[in-house]
Amino acid sequence: MPEPPSSNAAHLSAPFRLDEELWQHLIPDSRRVLSTASDYRAWLAARPAADGSPAITLVFKALEIELLVRVLHPFRIDFQRSLPGEARVALLNDLKREEWSRPLGRFFSGGRPPALAETMSYLVMLNAVAADVPGNVLALWKRWLRSRFASAHHWWGRRRVAQRMAAATITYRNRYIHDLVATTSDVERALAVLWGQKANPGLLLQAFRILTHGLPRPLESSEPCRGCGRFMWAYPLRVPERHCLQCPGPGN
Ligand SMILES: [Zn+2]
Repeated sequence: MPEPPSSNAAHLSAPFRLDEELWQHLIPDSRRVLSTASDYRAWLAARPAADGSPAITLVFKALEIELLVRVLHPFRIDFQRSLPGEARVALLNDLKREEWSRPLGRFFSGGRPPALAETMSYLVMLNAVAADVPGNVLALWKRWLRSRFASAHHWWGRRRVAQRMAAATITYRNRYIHDLVATTSDVERALAVLWGQKANPGLLLQAFRILTHGLPRPLESSEPCRGCGRFMWAYPLRVPERHCLQCPGPGN
């Protein structure tokens, strides 16, 4: 697979052009997706009758990739490692019992990750959860997020990034994935919410900043993944440090 664009200034048009430091932080697959969205929007400019949906929906895909690699995968691995077998089984059974927590239980048992709006709704719930409650998976998650992301509280705190992103996912992504055709003005409206302007960063930029603020840039790992042989990404100061984007296990 060809390398993703290494510098965004040369490849992307506004509003997709990101602060270079933030761009270098992003996972290669997210860069690839954002650059495709930017190209698609440029392609649309001469085709006002075309469906603009991909210019919107791909942006959410980039956020899903970042969340999976930085939050969901590492948390699942820590969850499996840190809880003794019996406590883990009991917690998983609890999660699978209730409708709201079933996607989380399924993911912790090795299944697919919760959908973007579901993940955001869990982050919203953290506002009402005391981080010191034992045996509560959301409390565990809140402690975990706070210890790894200096700005984690912006998901659920006063800025309500998770709540606004959950609403944006439903309004701007889900409809265009299914049955709605996006006009040029729909695309511009959605991009304005997601990207904002220089002085007033949009929702997507706020989410990316929460996921990267204060953290070192990821590096390409020197060891290939033992599961699939592809290179892995190393995120210094994380546990686990290395992530294979193909295999779900820790550091493989
Ligand atoms: Zn692998």
